[in-house]
Amino acid sequence: EAKAAGKRQWSRYQPQLQAGLVERHELNESLDTAIAESAFALYYQPIVDLASGDLVAFEALVRWPHERRGMVLPEDFIALAEESGQIVPLGAWVLERAVTEATAWQKLSGDRRTAGGRLPLRVSVNVSARQFRDAGFVDTVRRVVESSGIRPGTLILELTESVLMRRDERVRTDMRTLRDLGVRIAIDDFGTGYSSLSYLREFPISVLKIDKSFIDGLGLSEQQYALVEGITRIADTLGVQVIAEGIENDAQRQLLAAMGCPLGQGYLFARPLTVEQAGALVQGDADLAGLQDGRP
Ligand code: C2E
Ligand code: MG
Ligand code: MG
Ligand code: MG
Repeated sequence: EAKAAGKRQWSRYQPQLQAGLVERHELNESLDTAIAESAFALYYQPIVDLASGDLVAFEALVRWPHERRGMVLPEDFIALAEESGQIVPLGAWVLERAVTEATAWQKLSGDRRTAGGRLPLRVSVNVSARQFRDAGFVDTVRRVVESSGIRPGTLILELTESVLMRRDERVRTDMRTLRDLGVRIAIDDFGTGYSSLSYLREFPISVLKIDKSFIDGLGLSEQQYALVEGITRIADTLGVQVIAEGIENDAQRQLLAAMGCPLGQGYLFARPLTVEQAGALVQGDADLAGLQDGRP
């Protein structure tokens, strides 16, 4: 079965791979230039409280505005940057930029939010496995946290299960150091990899992001619903906050809110926003419903 699947994949992807060699070289070179010139853009997707609709966080998502290719999405360059190691400087740029922006937003919204009794706005940053394994990663996080003055508890680092799967000592030590810094760690795309709820007690995890593929199936079968509800309950028992990813319709939002899933993100609420749109939302000059009309 696996062999057959492997063959099928091979014959499907081979032509692209070959055509991709020249392109890959070209892309690597222009990635180098883009990294040197910090020629990337960060978009920010709102994460909301499912019961109240309040904005609680933004996930930073990188894009690469390219003169010939237009706005290049992460799926077309992150894997490449991981293979070449370019993800290390790129990821450091993303972290620094997102934290700088978030610190400014927290100042803008600080008084208003405290008055309303809400927590300060959080920012969630994706970290690839290669980036996390880099010997300088923890120091980069420490430097960015210290120089920005961000409240560490408002910074979430999103790791995928591939990082935890190895269960090696370095990963544990680094995660403990990050926890001691006060930074929060999320498991991203939970359910797509070698999902194990035991990660939640083995590692200092604060947040679990349930992958869109589970949310897609929510209204479709009892089993899918029970699965998401079970994950949410167990996470809650362990003091881990759940974020549902890829909520696209109100039926999904209602089911999630009913089962007690606290947070979510998805096109239903907002697409990834430009920094200006995100800022307007924070300042109260725009609301989520209004932003949906003028989708970027
Ligand atoms: P992710 O971290 O799971 O991010 C969620 C992705 O789902 C984003 O795609 C977002 O635009 C998309 N999305 C959000 N809501 C919906 C929805 O309701 N429906 C659908 N169909 N999609 C939705 P994006 O921005 O293209 O990013 C793709 C992946 O690239 C991310 O998945 C993440 O793994 C990676 N990535 C993005 N930015 C960075 C970064 O700065 N560093 C690293 N290492 N990886 C990044
Ligand atoms: Mg993510
Ligand atoms: Mg995700
Ligand atoms: Mg994903």
